[in-house]
This record gives sequence, C-alpha cells and structure tokens, in this order.
Amino acid sequence: MPNRVVVLGGGASGLAAAWKLADRGVAVDVIEAAPQVGGLAATIPVDGYRLDVGPHSFFSDDEAVLGAVLDLFDGHMPRRPRSVRLRMDGKKLAYPLDAADLVRKLGAMTGLRCFASYAVERVRPPYRGRGAEDSDLSVEQWGARHFGRHLFELFFRPYTEQFWNMPCAALSHDVIPTSKKMSFFKTLRLLLMPKLDGADLSLAERELLPSWYPENGFGAICERIAATIRQSGGRIHLNRPVVGIARRRGAECVVRTRTPEDEVMEFPCDFVVSTIPLNELPGLLSPAAPNGVTEAANRLDFLSLVVLYLVTNKDPILECQYEYSLGNAYNRISETNKFSPFTSPEGENLLGIEFSCRYGDSVWQSTEEQLFEQCIDPLRKEGVVMGHEVRDLLVVKARHVYPLFALGYREPLRTILDYVASLGNVRVVGRAGSFEYLDADQCFKKGFALADEITRT
Ligand SMILES: Cc1cc2nc3c(=O)[nH]c(=O)nc-3n(C[C@H](O)[C@H](O)[C@H](O)COP(=O)(O)OP(=O)(O)OC[C@H]3O[C@@H](n4cnc5c(N)ncnc54)[C@H](O)[C@@H]3O)c2cc1C
Repeated sequence: MPNRVVVLGGGASGLAAAWKLADRGVAVDVIEAAPQVGGLAATIPVDGYRLDVGPHSFFSDDEAVLGAVLDLFDGHMPRRPRSVRLRMDGKKLAYPLDAADLVRKLGAMTGLRCFASYAVERVRPPYRGRGAEDSDLSVEQWGARHFGRHLFELFFRPYTEQFWNMPCAALSHDVIPTSKKMSFFKTLRLLLMPKLDGADLSLAERELLPSWYPENGFGAICERIAATIRQSGGRIHLNRPVVGIARRRGAECVVRTRTPEDEVMEFPCDFVVSTIPLNELPGLLSPAAPNGVTEAANRLDFLSLVVLYLVTNKDPILECQYEYSLGNAYNRISETNKFSPFTSPEGENLLGIEFSCRYGDSVWQSTEEQLFEQCIDPLRKEGVVMGHEVRDLLVVKARHVYPLFALGYREPLRTILDYVASLGNVRVVGRAGSFEYLDADQCFKKGFALADEITRT
C-alpha cells in the first residue's frame, strides 16, 4: 500500500478516491486548479447566487454509492423527482418518450413510419467489412440500425448535430451517453412499461431513477466529501494548477503545482491518481512521454459548455425542471428554483441556458449580452420568458466537458492509456481523466474502486 498519494483534480472522481484513501490511513493531497472543489459537479458562488455547471441531480443505481452520498447529509438531502420535456417544432414532448404522448402530438402516421423504417433496417445485412460488431459505427450507422431511419431523422440526427456541431457520420456512436444503449424495442418496452428491471441501465432508464438535490446546490455533495477528507487528515489545495509530474528512481513522483503567487510548490509521493483531462497528462510528464503518445494526446479533444443564467423574478418559468430544445442555438434550458429555491436570493429565480461549443470559438468568447441576443427571441416566442422579465445575466463556462468521440478516437485513446498503465504508479480515472462519458455517481463508484485497488497493492 502506498504511503503518500497525490490526487490531481478535486472533482467527483478525485474526491471519491481521496475520501476512501484518507479513510484507510493513506496520506493524501488533492491538487485542484479551481478556487472550489467539485469540477463539473461544483456549485460556484457568484454575487449571492449558487450556480451549478448546468443542471445536475443526484441519482444512482449503485446501492453503495447511493448510501455513501446520502449518509453525508444524514439522510436529509431533499428528494427532487426529475421532470423533463423535449421541445420540438413548438411541441412539448414527454421525456423519456411516452408512446401515447408521441402519437397524440406527432400523429399515428409518424408511429407507423417509425415502425416500418425500423423493420426495413432489421432485414438489412450488417455493415460490410465491419461484421456484426457495433464497435466502430458512427452515430448515423448505429442510430439508423437500432432505431430505424425515420426515428433517427426525426430526433437523433437533429439533436446530435446541433449539440456536437458535427455531422452524425463523423461521430462515434459512443457519444450516445449510456452504459447500455437503447434500441427501438427497448424504447418501445420503456414507453409501454416504464419500469427499471436491470443493473446496467440506459440513459433513458437512468432518467427514471429516484433523484436528490442538496439545498445549497449540487456542489454541496463534493463540499461534504472534501470536509470528510480533511477530517481524516487529507489535504486539499485549491487554486493550484498542476504544472508537472516528475518521475524519479525508486518509484517516487514529484507533483509540481503553481501557487496564486506564481511560486512552484512540490508534492513528493509514491502514487499519482490523475483526474485531469487525459489529453493534457502526457505533456505534464517528465521524463517526457514518447512522441507517439504526445501525438495521440493531440488527437483527443473535448466539447466545452457555456451556461448563461437569466436572473428573473418569474416563478415558475417552466412546467418541468429542464427542457431539451431542438432547432435553437442552445440545447437545453432549466429552472433553478425547481431544483432548490435556496440557490438564489429570496423572490428570485434563474433560467439556465446551455450552449455547447469548442474552447475559444465564437460562442465561448461571446459576452453575456451576445448570448442573450441569441436566445431571447425563441424564448419569447415559446412563452418561456420575456426580455423585460430578465433583470441580470450571469455566465459559467467549462472547457473539458464532453469527451469528443470523433470516429477513430479509440486508437489514440488506447495509445495514451497503455502508456499510462506502463508507468506503474500513475493511474487515471474520471470523465476527463479517462476520457469516458460518466455521471457523478459513476465517478464516485470508479474513484472508490481505484482506492480499493491502490490500497490492496
Ligand atoms: C451540464 C451537465 C449536467 C450534468 N448532469 C449530471 C447529473 O444530473 N447527474 C450526474 O450524476 N452527473 C451529471 N453530470 C456529470 C458530472 O458532472 C460529471 O460526471 C462529474 O462531475 C465528473 O467528475 P470528474 O471528477 O471525473 O471530472 P471533473 O469534474 O472534470 O474534475 C476534474 C478536476 O480536475 C481539475 N483540473 C483540471 N486540470 C487541472 C490541473 N492542471 N491541475 C489541477 N487540477 C486540474 C478541474 O478543475 C476539475 O475540478 C453533468 C455534467 C454536465 C456538464
């Protein structure tokens, strides 16, 4: 078992690993670049508001993770059943899709067309040269094959291309974020019998899990984990970007960080857990990673997120917690008072508007006012909020949000993971850390599992 572990990144994954390590008596230092813990699961205090990085709810199909997180709140984390809609062509559809609702709003002909085009796909032979395996399929190939062309063109192509700003033919189907994906028949079964009956749930099935939300914002979960780590003797260093990881003889590592005063601080250790973006890790290592690994890192990228918050006194704003939006510059809108009224001053409410983008592009660089200009017309037309009802604008930006699974990403990913595995005392975990699409509960689970593994060595 290592004596001293340095965890790079204080998000859900890093904190989960540090929590279990500190609990078992390992000396742990968590190094976090941001001024607060939580990463994507943080709640950021801004001018009396507590802003999440887009709408979050806590849910899990893993009993151990669920129990550990609820215990942090002594069982007092409020239950918040999720309510979601999909807005398309001015129609509000239930989400996960509901058979009766779909037929009522889109017509019986649409249902028949979906079924017929699915039947056509089923009798088609698998893609030539790829065998029956789904592993290398694009979203377009996978979506048409599993849902039928009609349903794919109706929902999947427009939303996927709007979200990723890339053609479905260039994206791996891994962008569909689920451990076990839906198919036409599973969707049909879910539409007719919305029950959870398996351990490995699809995204739509996970939407049906019971969910919770802390009064002071989703970030309260990570804040409580951080407090537990400190109580067990672990140390958490904020505002400390990692600037280097030197590997020395005798399996020792030295992690270098920069202080806000621009001084370099060193943390010697015998094990490193990295949750920082995987494509940035090779560039931090010394001795330097081989060229092939650095080149592989250059081939991986992330989609970024800008969340514009409109401050308003309007309450309620939506009929549900959040709405996916098709055909607009933004992908989703959410109402914060539907999660917790304690994240805004009394009498106020926030509408969160999510724009996906690439780091540094025109959306990323837009001012609050420019983003507002892009969304106020559709919001007004859809009756969500009027310009004069908006009192102020706030913005949250995150760079490494969605691993970009462009077709062919698996090869560079494998190159980096194999190289990191060969180092012996450096391990990666987490959404950005291992380039996987994970929810917070899955990050907790993986962080716990890694701590188990490390303490067994
Ligand atoms: C809009 C949105 C909605 C979501 N909704 C839900 C939901 O409802 N339920 C749910 O369970 N999950 C949800 N998630 C997913 C959840 O937020 C993530 O799975 C989880 O927070 C990822 O944790 P992580 O620790 O793996 O990664 P991160 O949160 O990315 O943590 C990595 C940390 O490393 C730090 N870091 C990076 N570089 C450096 C460096 N050089 N030095 C030091 N530190 C560094 C970062 O600041 C960050 O804190 C959502 C995510 C998004 C974006």
